[in-house]
Amino acid sequence: MRPSISALILNGKQLAADVLKTIPSQVQGQKLFLAVVLVGNNPSSLIYVSNKMKTANRLGIETMLFHFEEDASLEDLLSEIETLNADPAVTGILVQLPLPQSINPRELLDMVDPLKDVDGLHPFNMGMLYEGDENSALIPCTPQGCIHLIESSGVSIEGKKALVMGRSLIVGKPLSLMLSSRGATVTLAHSKTRDLQKEIESAQILISAIGNPGLIKGDWIQEGAVVIDVGISKLDSGQLKGDVEFETAKERAFAITPVPGGVGPMTVAYLMKNILKANKLQQMSER
Ligand code: NAP
Repeated sequence: MRPSISALILNGKQLAADVLKTIPSQVQGQKLFLAVVLVGNNPSSLIYVSNKMKTANRLGIETMLFHFEEDASLEDLLSEIETLNADPAVTGILVQLPLPQSINPRELLDMVDPLKDVDGLHPFNMGMLYEGDENSALIPCTPQGCIHLIESSGVSIEGKKALVMGRSLIVGKPLSLMLSSRGATVTLAHSKTRDLQKEIESAQILISAIGNPGLIKGDWIQEGAVVIDVGISKLDSGQLKGDVEFETAKERAFAITPVPGGVGPMTVAYLMKNILKANKLQQMSER
């Protein structure tokens, strides 16, 4: 048995601050504008939206919240998106998820101008990522943050066995493509996966985006693995908890993200980068 050496803690807060530091100089001289469409009053969404808008404002990016009642009609929402698409002053449009049950998110996401789609959820952008063209696409923010966190550990992705848990469009699926493009051999697990423990034990890079607190036991982690915990759940006590049992996992992993303070801040940082990228892609398309 190896002597107990605690893992490198991947400090997402610090890494995000480093990313954000580079942004004001790139914003300078340009008018960037983020439009946020929020439907209803989901308490977590209100906090996320406020964080994103505050961060943007701090960096010199203007923002406006288009806040609709829970029972807003699809027609009204689509009409707002059409107006934002047509407004040349709007750089980025973000439809905050989840939407109320009555609205099919695809009906809104498919209508956002792909060049303003800063969450990377339009089929055009997903298609570009599928093709492996990350430069021309707007890519979901959380997977970009995860890749940055893995790379910050100093561990090379190429040739590794990577396990992505969770197959959502906003995290798991795009991340599995990005890891594959970087030369990892990727398994994409979900609720129907048989023998999750066995999959986890063989993963050299493990990313969990499930939202089930503490589901992944620390002693399932392969010694020396890089562990990125995207999951964030609020316990009855008010404490935020990831999918991975942090205290035991950090005794086996080479590197691990904490919750909170890991993936969350990186997601916001990469949203800011996506606003800059959207602006650049729009300028290129006008040439
Ligand atoms: P989601 O749409 O809720 O999907 C959850 C995924 O986990 C699904 O693919 C589901 O499988 C899978 N799953 C559920 N239970 C499972 C189990 N017992 N074993 C294996 N797989 C299981 O997920 P999401 O929106 O990607 O969010 C996932 C978590 O990440 C949530 O806690 C969310 O709050 C967090 N999150 C954090 C950030 C951040 O910036 N920190 C950003 C986004 C999300 P099926 O497909 O088979 O149902």
